[in-house]
Amino acid sequence: MKKHIIIVGGGFAGINLIKSLRGDKRFRITLVDKNNYHFFPPLIYQVATSFIEASNISYPFRKLFSNDKNVSFHMGSLIRVIPESKTIETDTGNLHYDYLVLALGTESNFFGMENVQKCALPMKNIEEALYLRNHILLTLEEAARNKDIREAEKLQNIVIAGGGPTGVELAGMLAEMGGYIAQKEYPEIKLSLSNLYLIDALPSLLSPMSAMAQKTAYEKLKELGVKILLNVSVKDYNNCKVILSDGSSIETETLIWTSGVIGREVPGIPEESVGKGRRLLVDAYNKVEHTQNIYALGDLCLMLSEEKYPKGHPQLAQVAIQQGKNLAANFQRVEDEKVLHPFGYNDKGSMAIISKFNAVVDLPKHSFKGFIAWLTWLFIHIIPLIGFRSKVQLALDWFRLFITNNPSIRLILHPKRNTGETL
Ligand SMILES: Cc1cc2nc3c(=O)[nH]c(=O)nc-3n(C[C@H](O)[C@H](O)[C@H](O)COP(=O)(O)OP(=O)(O)OC[C@H]3O[C@@H](n4cnc5c(N)ncnc54)[C@H](O)[C@@H]3O)c2cc1C
Repeated sequence: MKKHIIIVGGGFAGINLIKSLRGDKRFRITLVDKNNYHFFPPLIYQVATSFIEASNISYPFRKLFSNDKNVSFHMGSLIRVIPESKTIETDTGNLHYDYLVLALGTESNFFGMENVQKCALPMKNIEEALYLRNHILLTLEEAARNKDIREAEKLQNIVIAGGGPTGVELAGMLAEMGGYIAQKEYPEIKLSLSNLYLIDALPSLLSPMSAMAQKTAYEKLKELGVKILLNVSVKDYNNCKVILSDGSSIETETLIWTSGVIGREVPGIPEESVGKGRRLLVDAYNKVEHTQNIYALGDLCLMLSEEKYPKGHPQLAQVAIQQGKNLAANFQRVEDEKVLHPFGYNDKGSMAIISKFNAVVDLPKHSFKGFIAWLTWLFIHIIPLIGFRSKVQLALDWFRLFITNNPSIRLILHPKRNTGETL
């Protein structure tokens, strides 16, 4: 009897688990995802800023596994797990499993601020990135039409909440775009009115990175004209006004939220299996505590057993990839009646691009910055893309864009039927 493994979530963790098990006839694998494509979150900000197409960083699941007889795809959103009958309920039907792997990742955390949740613009997936792209372009059009100075300023102000790698990369790109594009193509806009703010509650940008990376990011973004506010947090967002913890406020139509994440809710999993940040508590083999045959991987799980990471692993792509591969090998070890291997994270370092030709790279024993770091960043972000076409296409697009400074995909698209209906 083939074991049926259901994997919910085709992100880095889910995909790497499947890649390691495809072709192994002892398993029948079903991937469940609410989207029909895998995407690459580290480059999402380039979609949001109209720099690259969404298709540059996305790949359809069915194409990815079209040659793998033991892998099938079920498009649907997880509603709940029913452990007693080893079943999952999705909005497109129920499925029965022998092993269930939960790899649903996280969602934006608004820390209970209702107005912020309602009106801020998160940027965690392709849909949100495309929405943000439309929003920025529409706001620029409105600013170009508006004759009222105060209104125009409000439209041109952009506030990014969260000074981690995503916030820093987004700020750098928006600042450069403002310089190269807005000045040339929106002559009606007075750039002196526009302000790009980057806000973080901590005393430095890129807080998980080295002091060198933090200082470089701060100085380069300042040079590009970004207003950096540290040691302050967003408290509310009301009537287009961002209220800050120091009592000050900023008027803006655009509050971009890159400030924190929380595990996706998985109804049906016992409450005692849910840890800090709504992450599912797992043992050293990624099995969810207090459950049978249910595993969690990547951003969604919290493993406290590895001595070096007593508070859990960082929510990074490499952790998800390595956990996916380790769990696949353990499923095979069970079949081979071999001893299971606990997960051990191999930290390969982290990096952030700050502006054109400038990035920071922290390797486990060495940090560097500048042009070589920028080339390293480009290389490292092309290699994991799925599909040869995506890699070549992105390399060519980047080459052209970094030379011309002028991406031409700034289209405001709202797909609709002739009845006005949207999908
Ligand atoms: C903007 C951004 C930039 C980042 N930059 C970096 C970086 O530079 N370097 C780095 O190491 N990490 C980066 N990260 C973090 C990295 O992307 C995550 O650590 C990694 O994606 C986690 O992988 P995962 O497989 O656990 O989850 P994800 O990659 O989030 O995948 C989750 C999958 O679950 C699916 N899903 C969600 N809900 C449901 C549901 N209800 N039903 C069915 N399917 C569902 C989603 O469609 C998705 O395919 C970044 C993250 C973001 C958001």
